[in-house]
Amino acid sequence: MRLALFDDYRLGVVEGDQLADVTDALDEHDTEWPFVFVPRTIIHFDRVRPRIESKLASARRIPLAQVRLRPPTPAPSKIAAAASNYRAHNAEMQKYFAEGRFGTTQSGPQHLRSGLSDVPGRPPGERGDVFLKSPSSIIGPGDTILLPDTTPGREVHHEPELAAVIGRECYRVSPSQALDYVFGYTALLDITVRGEGDRSRRKSYRGFTPIGPWIVLKEEISDPQDLDIKLWVNDELRQDANTSDMIETLAEIIEYSSYCYTLMPGDIVTTGSPDGVAPIKDGDVVKIEIEGIGSYSVDVEAL
Ligand code: MN
Repeated sequence: MRLALFDDYRLGVVEGDQLADVTDALDEHDTEWPFVFVPRTIIHFDRVRPRIESKLASARRIPLAQVRLRPPTPAPSKIAAAASNYRAHNAEMQKYFAEGRFGTTQSGPQHLRSGLSDVPGRPPGERGDVFLKSPSSIIGPGDTILLPDTTPGREVHHEPELAAVIGRECYRVSPSQALDYVFGYTALLDITVRGEGDRSRRKSYRGFTPIGPWIVLKEEISDPQDLDIKLWVNDELRQDANTSDMIETLAEIIEYSSYCYTLMPGDIVTTGSPDGVAPIKDGDVVKIEIEGIGSYSVDVEAL
């Protein structure tokens, strides 16, 4: 099942190029922030799902092309993100840092992957870091990334990432349990200002976290570590990889994130970008596609 929010944050089940409006199946509904019905629907999905399914046959069908898709989890309590989780991306970043391309003296991503494991029972070693993006940076398909600064030399980069939406409260879980806490998957863009400074600022400007086009429930994705992931800017293919290239799996990222944070229903855990990151500029159209999930585009506008 694929669950979309559309127009006035109505709930739709995506079927091919149509969407069935099943908003009436919900216990409750809101049309504005903080969209409490979203985590509550996820928490109580075992109860809501049969009602969705029984409404499906008679639900109003709308062509996807005629709706405005909204971010499918519009106000999570947090977005936990893996840093530097693809080797080829880490290599390109090392090269850019060595060239001084971002005007920074900070050390490269390899530095971030050593000795970080403080998870009991897990040996230190090549462990990635996790960080938080602000939920207020979330936008949906067709929305606009706002570039905060047009200073020459400033680079704002695209990072396409497989993201999991958490289904129930998750604290200190093992990798073997971690995927049990996943509600579904979505495609996320981790838009990033390069250069010095804290990631939580550089990755949290307005519009810096597009998600969508919907949530594909976990049952539809047999292996999250074998999905093609692609990104285009203005129809030029810029990134083309597979989630099998991740250094740490989604399950390991959830393990580490849940060691640090308590993951709540509707929260997002995102898995890092493959190589091919590059600048976006005013007027660009950025498209992400993940196998088994779907694709969408967002616009880029300079402030
Ligand atoms: Mn990222």
